[in-house]
Amino acid sequence: MNIAVIGGGIAGLVAAWQLSRRHAVTLFERHAMPGFVASSVALDGAAAGLRVDVPLRVFYPGYYPTLTRLYAELGVSTEPVDYATTFSGADGRAYFRWRNARLGGWSLPYVLPQDVASARGWRIAQGALRFQARARAAQAAGQLGGVSIGEFVAAERIAPDFVDGLLLPAIATIGTCSTADARAYPAAVVAGYATAGVGRQSVHRARDGADAVAAKLLAGIARVQCSAGVVAVRRRNGQVMVQSAAGEEVFDQVVFATQANQALALLADAAPDEVAALAAFHYRALEVLMHRDTALMPQRRADWSPVNARVCAEHAQPESTIWINRVQPALRHAAPLFQTVMPQRSPRDDSVIGHARFERPLVDAGSAAALAALQQLHAQPGRRVWWCGSYAEAGVPLLESAVRSALAVAARVEVCADAEAMGRAA
Ligand SMILES: Cc1cc2nc3c(=O)[nH]c(=O)nc-3n(C[C@H](O)[C@H](O)[C@H](O)COP(=O)(O)OP(=O)(O)OC[C@H]3O[C@@H](n4cnc5c(N)ncnc54)[C@H](O)[C@@H]3O)c2cc1C
Repeated sequence: MNIAVIGGGIAGLVAAWQLSRRHAVTLFERHAMPGFVASSVALDGAAAGLRVDVPLRVFYPGYYPTLTRLYAELGVSTEPVDYATTFSGADGRAYFRWRNARLGGWSLPYVLPQDVASARGWRIAQGALRFQARARAAQAAGQLGGVSIGEFVAAERIAPDFVDGLLLPAIATIGTCSTADARAYPAAVVAGYATAGVGRQSVHRARDGADAVAAKLLAGIARVQCSAGVVAVRRRNGQVMVQSAAGEEVFDQVVFATQANQALALLADAAPDEVAALAAFHYRALEVLMHRDTALMPQRRADWSPVNARVCAEHAQPESTIWINRVQPALRHAAPLFQTVMPQRSPRDDSVIGHARFERPLVDAGSAAALAALQQLHAQPGRRVWWCGSYAEAGVPLLESAVRSALAVAARVEVCADAEAMGRAA
């Protein structure tokens, strides 16, 4: 079959790589290089030749079984990284800090006496323990259906210092959304993430970054069209027309690996059920800055962690600054380098070395119904247009859901291909 995959994020790369085993696949990407690596920053000076992923993407195996298997199959080597976190207020003073001791793939989160010396720090630590215990129990008892995390912590009377000072900022940082969005996250999704090994397992990253992952996947894809933004897709006479900057081409099957809202804008002949399903996914736009401005770090150098969240009531979302030197070993002794996600403040102009904008899917009470509607579309006979991406599987929209959805869609396309081949043979 002749198949188009639209979008070169991790979902599109994986779908195209998987389908390329048996089919002629063309990958369309609007950027000059696959979106998975398009925002990465090349360093100069003493660090020339090194690139930093933007955004930096980490994972821990317990929540990422599909990604872990994929990396093993591709031969992508990974390494554990220190992901200890400092939480600071508007004044830049740290109010809580957790650290992690790492041994191989295992991690032991801990706090030092000075981290819980204040009454607030102590209440946060206590709240964290109570939350873990209550979430685990409620999850095991199947009591989390239809409940948001905000409703759950209120019902369980979890300490507000922990909820507002750590839990919601952590969810907002992982989901790159506002604190209000974080409060609306389904409790089952948060508990699923929190109890799959986070804290006990080390956070990992691909040792040679997203570039190495993309290179392995691209090696299996015959035709990659970059700088070829698709402008319209429409079905005609049992085939699918893809109109892009490179012209118009005809395919047997098309996989949208863009975000759902982008796919909806491209599908010129979307049926009402397709419009309804795709429009049900909602997004939050955000910015990521690469810079060298230490003013965005906690006030005291001794409080700096690999991840530094700034939480203050006047901002709708926490700002998080990753100290890149601490998570990318090759840069350990290089000049300080930071990646700030959802910045609340601007770093000095002369310190900025890159910026990028992203859209991130939101997860809320409507997400399960939206996913069910998408699956119903995928189950329709004779389907020639498919959707995958981090939004298209249950859970927090991360690399895991993106890869899982790409492999699931590839499997469905294979079933169609086999059915058509049998039909032709009959
Ligand atoms: C700040 C931040 C930090 C994150 N940290 C982590 C992390 O630590 N761990 C983790 O697992 N996940 C993390 N994520 C989430 C993760 O990056 C995403 O879930 C994942 O990369 C999404 O992949 P995707 O392929 O579904 O979508 P995308 O990466 O959005 O890919 C969509 C692709 O479609 C292309 N496209 C769009 N329109 C067109 C068009 N018209 N024609 C052609 N191409 C088009 C885009 O250019 C893009 O390449 C983070 C996300 C952000 C924003």
